[in-house]
Amino acid sequence: MKNLKLPITIDPFKSAQRTLVCDGYFDLSEFDRLRAVTEKCCGQMNVKIQFKVDEQGLNVVSGSGLTTVGLTCQRCNEIFEQKLSIDFQLSPVKKAEQADELPSYYDAIELDENGEVNLRELVESELLLAIPLIPKHELDDCQAPANSTWGKLPEELDKPNPFDVLKQLK
Ligand SMILES: [Zn+2]
Repeated sequence: MKNLKLPITIDPFKSAQRTLVCDGYFDLSEFDRLRAVTEKCCGQMNVKIQFKVDEQGLNVVSGSGLTTVGLTCQRCNEIFEQKLSIDFQLSPVKKAEQADELPSYYDAIELDENGEVNLRELVESELLLAIPLIPKHELDDCQAPANSTWGKLPEELDKPNPFDVLKQLK
């Protein structure tokens, strides 16, 4: 499958038996959760997803993709383009308890009521995780003065010097 719209849900076990590779796209406009937290979220995103059974017999869904969204710079308040890249290795589990038994290099993904993986939700969740905690321009591109304190966490500014506390103890 190439340059096709990716299926929203898929059976990861049947797909692994066929060592299926899905090379396709999602429309960013369908990602409601992502749209809610970005200024610009449109066009298509290419994602490559592979299904396999690993040496230990575990079912694996791995994939990667890259896209660009518009975010508001927390330093100067202008909208800028942020690249979001995703890269995941997941293993589907039928019950939450099974997640604890997975090797640390796999994250668990829960199956829906039909025993399928929701690829669209999965990709959207990965994109949400890829958004920086404090979105901002590269320093050279930013409109805010270089010595501006915008974008710094308030706690960072007011954090007491740990040595002052030591002094008080003496
Ligand atoms: Zn900026």
